[in-house]
Amino acid sequence: MATFNPALTPPAGVTQHRYIHVIGSNVFIDDRAAESGWAVHFLGMLDGEACWAVDVPAGEDPSYGAAVDLYSLHGRTSEVEWAVAGRAVQLAEWSRTHQFCGRCGQPTVHSDNDRSMKCPGCGLLAYPRLAPAMITLVTKGDPGPDQLALLARGVTFRAPMYSCLAGFVEAGESLEQSVIREVREEVGIEVAWPTYQGSQPWPFPHSLMIGFRTEWVSGEIECDPAEIVDAQWYRRDELPSIPPGISIARKLIDAWLLEG
Ligand SMILES: [Zn+2]
Repeated sequence: MATFNPALTPPAGVTQHRYIHVIGSNVFIDDRAAESGWAVHFLGMLDGEACWAVDVPAGEDPSYGAAVDLYSLHGRTSEVEWAVAGRAVQLAEWSRTHQFCGRCGQPTVHSDNDRSMKCPGCGLLAYPRLAPAMITLVTKGDPGPDQLALLARGVTFRAPMYSCLAGFVEAGESLEQSVIREVREEVGIEVAWPTYQGSQPWPFPHSLMIGFRTEWVSGEIECDPAEIVDAQWYRRDELPSIPPGISIARKLIDAWLLEG
């Protein structure tokens, strides 16, 4: 399986290149840069291949309509290649939106020694933006075939599917506190201290999803209508439509299904 090693500069003598052209939030991948003069960011090495993000200026489309969004790209490439494409989109977007210092307004420059934009005037550093978001599967009852899991339909879901509860972490709280607060806010129940399951970069546009499991302690489901259309306890053999394999939500649900 391919491995990706992030780096700030390519090693000497690299002959193979992969240019991930970032067109808005879509990507077009080629072994040549479509134009010289567009901003490029070195991402790292994917086995022997040097990977670059090309920040395509607004209004240009070197793919002539062939660029795809990251959702569509998933499943057409390996997980590693998909993550590199997501990294390209996030770094191009970050670079675009940090051209000037947020404190004194001077134009910024790329730092030589790490992945940051630096203000030559006041020294402020800006790093690629990441928004941590927790996602949790809540279970009810003893482990085994009769255990239930809480799945909810969010108001923003385009498809009629049910998933785990999720939300952004607030300043000043731990991930575990954020899980307990979000579950309380969204469906009105109290849960136990959650346990970490795994994480996933989620470049839509710059989240990091952090997965947890937790157990129901008390309370009846009462949905916050601003966030949740419907939430129910489900048995494994009565599941509604659930998210596709791309998401950590699905991985949390699949892990639970295997336990029953
Ligand atoms: Zn400044």
